[in-house]
Amino acid sequence: MRYSALSLLTQALRGHKGWTPVWRDPAPKAEYDVVIIGGGGHGLATAHYLASRHGITKIAVLEKGYLGSGNVGRNTTIIRSNYLLPGNTPFYELSMKLWEGLEQDLNYNAMVSQRGVLNLYHSDAQRDAFARRGNAMRLAGVDAELLDREQVRAMAPFFDYDNARFPIQGGLLQKRGGTARHDAVAWGYARAADSRGVDLIQNCEVTGFTMVDGRAVGVETSRGPIRAKKIAMAVAGNSSRVAAMAGMRLPIESHVLQAFVSEGLKPMIDGVVTFGAGHFYVSQSDKGGLVFGGDIDGYNSYAQRGNLPVIEDVMESAMALWPGLGRVRMLRHWGGIMDMSMDGSPIIDRAPVEGLYLNAGWCYGGFKATPASGFCFAHLIATGEPHPVAAAYRLDRFASGRLIDEKGVGAQPNLH
Ligand SMILES: Cc1cc2nc3c(=O)[nH]c(=O)nc-3n(C[C@H](O)[C@H](O)[C@H](O)COP(=O)(O)OP(=O)(O)OC[C@H]3O[C@@H](n4cnc5c(N)ncnc54)[C@H](O)[C@@H]3O)c2cc1C
Repeated sequence: MRYSALSLLTQALRGHKGWTPVWRDPAPKAEYDVVIIGGGGHGLATAHYLASRHGITKIAVLEKGYLGSGNVGRNTTIIRSNYLLPGNTPFYELSMKLWEGLEQDLNYNAMVSQRGVLNLYHSDAQRDAFARRGNAMRLAGVDAELLDREQVRAMAPFFDYDNARFPIQGGLLQKRGGTARHDAVAWGYARAADSRGVDLIQNCEVTGFTMVDGRAVGVETSRGPIRAKKIAMAVAGNSSRVAAMAGMRLPIESHVLQAFVSEGLKPMIDGVVTFGAGHFYVSQSDKGGLVFGGDIDGYNSYAQRGNLPVIEDVMESAMALWPGLGRVRMLRHWGGIMDMSMDGSPIIDRAPVEGLYLNAGWCYGGFKATPASGFCFAHLIATGEPHPVAAAYRLDRFASGRLIDEKGVGAQPNLH
């Protein structure tokens, strides 16, 4: 069923009784051309681009819970392409371009909203670093503007500009950045993939791999064995667990990241703002709640909930930037499992095990990457060659030393 103003009107006149399910609920078949493990944003996007761009439709997406139950439905929805390093900038800019055409491509309202992402700076050194990043972005054809203090004040008058420790000096703005409705992204990709014949199989946990002569030829699941010519892993926070089933040890640690939503308020900030002197970022949802987050919990965990010390840390940073928040009530918070790679950048590559493909290491920036990740992973699976803009995301860079360390902090997940 195609969604349009006409279909909405027709359904309205018929009492909305004619809407069909957004995707089917098929039983798993014995064999597929491609099995994708993980029904998050990246797995679903990969299925969509394999089917729509490469004509491969004998695909199953196996999800241990329900579609969108992982990080794709838990993140703070920020999309941007304000990266510095050559390995990253073209990839994230491809993602931004795919976001800009996503709703037409999927025929689904993902609420992509380019309201701007503003990174605040609080010292001369930070301004210089942001100017350098902005210049690198502009050289790569990405929009960036360096704002001074008064320009920022005009956008957000209620921040604490004269905070004695962290005075706001200005900000780096990417106007094309913004937010997208996270679970609608999962549903949109799922619906588009399903409409091309992809089987989306929920409540189907992969529990092992079927190996023949060192090659992965299928998966063991909670709903029986499934054979596949190619097997693609896109399990985000569970990457190290699933890779271990195939005998691989990845340069990835799993940590929890929490998100927070306040009570509904009148419109206060247009876009996304990040505090440059602590880990805190905030935007406002269409329902009026302030959506914000900060640092990862600093211990390894596979639990989808976080702990009190980080809540306190996030609230302290919030108060340092925006003292008025002290009067706002926090309504909800939750956690997701981050696949923190050792240089803070992702992996889109063939795995050392023949027949297995790897998409992992998204840290806490993988939502914005969803379209390009699916696009480039589909290219790799279909052609056997890395897509040019994702060619740097190789697994062997951790052995060769060709790291893509955007923040320059080395193998310290808590600092990425
Ligand atoms: C609180 C929070 C805030 C964030 N904010 C942002 C942000 O603002 N911007 C941004 O760009 N990124 C953000 N992120 C990061 C982003 O959400 C993730 O990097 C991205 O969603 C990961 O890719 P995914 O959507 O495919 O993951 P997921 O949705 O986690 O998909 C992986 C799926 O694999 C499934 N799975 C795992 N093991 C198995 C198995 N054995 N068998 C079958 N299925 C399995 C899981 O159930 C899960 O559904 C945030 C994350 C969190 C938690």
